[in-house]
Amino acid sequence: MLRGYVDRLDVAADGRIRVVDYKTGRAPSPLFEAKALFQMKFYALVVWRLRGTVPALLQLVYLGNGEILRYAPQEADLLATERKVKALWTAIERAAVTGDWRASPSRLCDWCDHRPLCPAWGGTPPPVPADALERVAGRTASAPDTPGLDES
Ligand code: SF4
Repeated sequence: MLRGYVDRLDVAADGRIRVVDYKTGRAPSPLFEAKALFQMKFYALVVWRLRGTVPALLQLVYLGNGEILRYAPQEADLLATERKVKALWTAIERAAVTGDWRASPSRLCDWCDHRPLCPAWGGTPPPVPADALERVAGRTASAPDTPGLDES
């Protein structure tokens, strides 16, 4: 089950869909555009799976400098995104089975509340709960075991 919120979804009279996301910062350099677009392609994948229509346009609006990043996704893009999401999920399940949750240090560590518990910074994380695998795999009574996408 995947659940998320899209900032804005425009549907034209002819049915074409535009996915819009607003960012408070400035537009990324061309080097980091692909990373920014992954989120948008993920939204597009969810819209495609839920509505059966590949969005015509993905639009990132950077309020920090007024720049707009636009991308017209193709089915092949979204299938590649789907493969990547599934690979990520497999990695998460593997981590749940082995208990080997790797820290991923980056500049974001400067703002992270978990830093005192993070092994990347000399901390010791709390023990993994016994039911971690069940919770990750969505096999508890409170979560369905059928993978799917939830429009929220
Ligand atoms: S401090 Fe640890 S948990 Fe937080 S962002 Fe950095 S690597 Fe991740």
